[in-house]
Amino acid sequence: MAGGQNEVQAFDLCALGLDDDILALAELERDPVFHKLDSGRYGYYLEQSLGAGRRAALPLQGQDIRVLLEEAGIEFRLAESAGAGTMKVALRAQLDWSGKVPHITVYRESLRQLQTAAETRGALGPVTFDRIVDIHLAHEYYHWLEYRSGQFTNELLESVECLRIGPFRRKATVLQTSEIAAHAFCKQMLGLPYLPSLLDHMYLIQTGEIKMEQFAENVKKWKEILASMDSVCYNR
Ligand SMILES: [Zn+2]
Repeated sequence: MAGGQNEVQAFDLCALGLDDDILALAELERDPVFHKLDSGRYGYYLEQSLGAGRRAALPLQGQDIRVLLEEAGIEFRLAESAGAGTMKVALRAQLDWSGKVPHITVYRESLRQLQTAAETRGALGPVTFDRIVDIHLAHEYYHWLEYRSGQFTNELLESVECLRIGPFRRKATVLQTSEIAAHAFCKQMLGLPYLPSLLDHMYLIQTGEIKMEQFAENVKKWKEILASMDSVCYNR
């Protein structure tokens, strides 16, 4: 194999060729019903969810997400951290539409950690804290659009049979498609170089939870899966 240790250490993101399909597949893989999906259908879920997010973003491209929130009557709150203990870092942003005034809470502490990871790994270019906040606001705004339309992305797509006992069949939707769409929306709206879910990967590398080499291996695996699919479009 070509490429010495130094190249691995350098962790050249561009060289990994992380297009939307790859990062979206990484998200799809995290779905609780992923193992129930026929691999021939991955392309359908990826294309449909990425497409839904991009389409929703097109008329809003270049607009200020904070102005959009204001116009939608959604409050934006910045909290220090979400609770205590192990749950503390898990939450980054939250949309709550149950009260009189819908609001998005963004957690400063976990976003600062993401910012550090993004800066260190050069994932999304120079990133300010406000930019990281905007990414999360745009993500939640997409969920708001879904909520307002009365249907979430996963509900628009084919459900999958997750249980079968005799004549009894239980179906479930692929929840992660809503996440993929929100990431695609965010990327398109804010003009990001990658799907923002890359931040999560960078964070795991930064905190040592996953090694760079392992991430590169995963990328290779995702590429192989995509290459074996006919339906995925590589024209990006
Ligand atoms: Zn989400």
